[in-house]
Amino acid sequence: MQHFFLPADAIKQDTVSFPPEIAHQIKHVLRLNEGMQVQVLDDQGALLRVCLLPEVDGRLEGNILERTYPKSEPTVQLSLCVSLTQREKFELILQKAVEVGVSSIQPFVSRYSLVREKTIQPKRRVRWQGILREAAEQSGRILIPKLHDVAILPHVIEQCAASSDLCLAAWEGEHIATLQRVLQEAQSKKEIQRIALFIGPEGGFAQQEMDLFQQHDVRSVSLGKRILRMETAAIVAPALVLYELGQMEL
Ligand code: SAH
Repeated sequence: MQHFFLPADAIKQDTVSFPPEIAHQIKHVLRLNEGMQVQVLDDQGALLRVCLLPEVDGRLEGNILERTYPKSEPTVQLSLCVSLTQREKFELILQKAVEVGVSSIQPFVSRYSLVREKTIQPKRRVRWQGILREAAEQSGRILIPKLHDVAILPHVIEQCAASSDLCLAAWEGEHIATLQRVLQEAQSKKEIQRIALFIGPEGGFAQQEMDLFQQHDVRSVSLGKRILRMETAAIVAPALVLYELGQMEL
């Protein structure tokens, strides 16, 4: 059944009203008619089974038949901290990271980042939010991962160090600590619920940045012998973290 995230003000006690672009998709793209059912998500954890009502004055509404609270989101909150990069590459990372199961994405600018914008332009934010929402709908997520505003790397490191149980920086120069070993060791010491994972730009992290990671107890980890492109690393590394923590299980 088709999933749609609706804004909070579109959901009432017993009915939902579909915003025009979703109504268009339901009627003209999916060709669903009155009496047929869709699934609506409120991005707060609820999943509603909704029966379409007849269209009135071009407005499409539906009756809520059932409200459930599925427990299908990963129980580990993984924040993907990733360097800004060219638009298409960054958009691919956003889409795939949502499918894999990250909870939030924190873009940063570091010494060798190719793109160095200080904020996400409003038009671009709308586009990126749309990519996150569509990827969440397509992959059956219950919550849309959060997209934080761009920050410089030292700020992100400080903030993540204060709010995470474990911070990891993927570094191709790491020849001892594997991702698996670091995760297993961390788990044996305490329960890991919030993880921040840093992926550097095309040019990698600078030595000073690696020093800063170390000062904040961010563990550098290897993703193996091969050097991955940043977009590959930004998709593969979250998948490996979630797999290792048992979050890819059924
Ligand atoms: N310019 C660097 C490669 C950077 S790859 C070089 O040629 O040596 C871009 C990012 O992907 C890195 O900053 C790192 O976070 C991640 N990455 C790629 N391959 C990796 C590996 N084998 N181990 C750990 N991290 C890796």
